[in-house]
Amino acid sequence: MENYSNAGIFGISIWRNVLENQKLSEAKVMLSDFGMNVVSLVRGGFFASADNKRRQVAIDDNLLAIEQAAAIGAPLLVLVCGADGRQSLNQSKEHIREGITRILPEAKAAGVKLAIEPLHPMYAADRSAINTLKQANDMAESFDSEYVGVVVDVYHLWWDEHLGQEIKRCGNNGNLLAFHVCDWNVPTIDFLNDRGLMGDGCINIPQIRQWVEETGFNGYNEVEVFSEKYWAMDQKTYLERIKKAYLEKT
Ligand code: ZN
Repeated sequence: MENYSNAGIFGISIWRNVLENQKLSEAKVMLSDFGMNVVSLVRGGFFASADNKRRQVAIDDNLLAIEQAAAIGAPLLVLVCGADGRQSLNQSKEHIREGITRILPEAKAAGVKLAIEPLHPMYAADRSAINTLKQANDMAESFDSEYVGVVVDVYHLWWDEHLGQEIKRCGNNGNLLAFHVCDWNVPTIDFLNDRGLMGDGCINIPQIRQWVEETGFNGYNEVEVFSEKYWAMDQKTYLERIKKAYLEKT
């Protein structure tokens, strides 16, 4: 946070692993001392499982995540919705619908919105059965609640020929809650932790950003780069590279 603050960056999302063994009230004070706006808490979800017990464990964990989000002032919980290769995608989608239905009353009471993040289809067997923005929009709209919306992440969605119209769709109905940027390396060496910095790869990020901004979206453009390569760098130097890539290639 000190590095971000020194670099003039005042919006961050918080991953739940950094809250482990932390007093949430102290985390909140620390955030406000550094002038940070919390964009979202990452992450909840993983509702889909062929195992009943695991589905209940997921619901309980999401209820905890909603409490954590409220405690640190995060207005949004990002949902990686889940999938299970032992069952059909439709069955997984039913579990996702059921999971969101179960946690929505607590989310509303806590003032924390739920943001469905569609993941690239390469994760359809184990991380999310929601793989296009259309599927995420369909799911979000079926709840007809201002507390359920979607995340647009260029890494997961850049290849979709319907992306422009689906961004318009969620933007126009108030469901576009967050926007994540990074790049798709060519070739990609690891499908989890080899994301590129904006400009490294093949995604037309300015085009997607334009679609997002044309809807009137005025939230943060969040840089989200899972990368063993960049995590191994000196992080202050890396932060400067992020800023440059953001200003010049996003
Ligand atoms: Zn993302």
